[in-house]
Amino acid sequence: MAIVRTTVPPGEEDVDRMVREAVRLSGGLKDLVACGATVIIKPNLVAPAAPERGATTDPRVCKSLADQVRELGAHPLIADGSAIGEDTEESFRVCGYDALRSQGYELIDLKKAGTVKVPVPGGTALNELHLPEVVVLADAIINVPKMKTHDQVLATLAIKNMKGILPDTLKKKFHTTFGVFRAVAELNTVVKPVLSVMDAIIAHEGLGPVFGTPVEMGLIVAGRDPVALDTIAGLVMGIEPTRIETTGHAAELGLGTMDISMIDVVGVPVEQVRRRFKLASEALEEALFLPPGFELLFNEMACTGCRNGVLSTLRDLEIEGRMDILRDMRIVAGKMDAPPPASDKRTLFVGVCTAGFRKLGEYVQGCPPNNVDILSAITGTSDHEFFARTQE
Ligand code: SF4
Repeated sequence: MAIVRTTVPPGEEDVDRMVREAVRLSGGLKDLVACGATVIIKPNLVAPAAPERGATTDPRVCKSLADQVRELGAHPLIADGSAIGEDTEESFRVCGYDALRSQGYELIDLKKAGTVKVPVPGGTALNELHLPEVVVLADAIINVPKMKTHDQVLATLAIKNMKGILPDTLKKKFHTTFGVFRAVAELNTVVKPVLSVMDAIIAHEGLGPVFGTPVEMGLIVAGRDPVALDTIAGLVMGIEPTRIETTGHAAELGLGTMDISMIDVVGVPVEQVRRRFKLASEALEEALFLPPGFELLFNEMACTGCRNGVLSTLRDLEIEGRMDILRDMRIVAGKMDAPPPASDKRTLFVGVCTAGFRKLGEYVQGCPPNNVDILSAITGTSDHEFFARTQE
């Protein structure tokens, strides 16, 4: 496991130097990438968010990796699919990847890729998956996750990043049907990156995976064992690694080790770069000044589409100074077998996953629902002007 540090903000040459050093300290690429091979480079492009926000992989990291792949005579493909409800092409544009395309690097929107059926041997959450053929047929995958907090799994790191390859229908089912933590780990048993290179140049804390705060860490953390990488990243962030459920399941499945005594860290020691990251739950309470009696009931089944929609709507309400409207209110999202406990509070059910309980309160349809509809339901008006004001 390698940790490489630079000053922030680094220039393109600095980033390239860091990534090459991290790859070298992780054992290099020569035995992983054969001449003529097709290599998927998988960033985290969850949503259209500029690199300086820290929520998406810096395109310069992918560029450096693509160059190293090319130098071995292999063919790099930079590929990802944004979250449900997000347009990957828009993410390519806003996250700075269009510039790579114009320089001759190949980008693939995995939402539009043809899929093939892949069995999941020994799976308990999954039996089979329909995965993008281009990923399944690739000779190697290099995973390029972000270091950032996540409102559902505490931190979204290497193991969780592979969920981005799924078509939207499967992304939904991971939350609504399969149980996302275990399913993500099982996905990693059938698509195994040969190397993971984590972008922590500008990391992300608080309301991750999209609406948090950038953190200038100046780090690249890399390794061949994605579980060990997540473990070390968790320690850097001040998060007990065993609390990161996706990674915990991956360790159980034999995808790597969380045993710190077995992980050899080279480069900069963890102690020198450790910084406690603010968790999403802490940020939600602090940053949004939630009024008394407000409850946000997201369960494991609530996927990024509803989470992002609700959180960004709350942020918009705060910007407009209208958080008091949430007093004694509950917002519920995610498929559930039974309704939430009875309450006198005004209850808003968000997304088609909650449609079965719509008569128990108010309801916003959609999968994912539109932010403007969530906002209209909360405020009780079709306040489109307000919505327009709050958009980036
Ligand atoms: S309704 Fe919401 S939680 Fe359910 S699948 Fe759609 S986006 Fe995900």
